[in-house]
Amino acid sequence: MVEISSYLYEKGLVPGKSGNISIRFKKDEYERVAVTPSGLSLKALDENDIIVVDTKGNVIYTTDKKPTSELLMHLKIYGNRDDINAVVHTHSPIATGFAFAGEKIERIEGFGAIKVQFIPFVDYYLPGSVELAEAVSKALKKTDVVILKGHGIVALGKNLDEASILAEFVEESAKTQFIKRVLSGE
Ligand SMILES: [Zn+2]
Repeated sequence: MVEISSYLYEKGLVPGKSGNISIRFKKDEYERVAVTPSGLSLKALDENDIIVVDTKGNVIYTTDKKPTSELLMHLKIYGNRDDINAVVHTHSPIATGFAFAGEKIERIEGFGAIKVQFIPFVDYYLPGSVELAEAVSKALKKTDVVILKGHGIVALGKNLDEASILAEFVEESAKTQFIKRVLSGE
């Protein structure tokens, strides 16, 4: 998690203190979720910054950190999906720019089968709110990535590698489409 966090930061996908990631795992028959902390940049986390919670969000392990303010969103996503074990939430600048402008991002070749032409939007709700957690987890029942209007991206994967590659791919897709529009004057 520490490695992927700094990778996402280096790639410019989680500027400042934005973004949060999690994984779900089993420990002694119990389902646990490890998440990044609130109030810290993903730039240079260390192992002690990672927090482990149960499926209801009760803290099982921490040094002195609080879980990300989007914890409920992560937990609700896992609650709806047995087939994924990693959630990556980024504020990647170009895709988020599309989201602020209300412009759709096309799902281009390069990441598995294309089932929908555009990456679905989720309406704007306050970051960290129950409403946002509800809306995002509902939208992610049937797809593996959504754009949050005026906010950022949430990508899912079987593991953290897959989820982070998907988040990165969305940003690269947004770049391609931005350049295409500039050059073609669309
Ligand atoms: Zn966010």
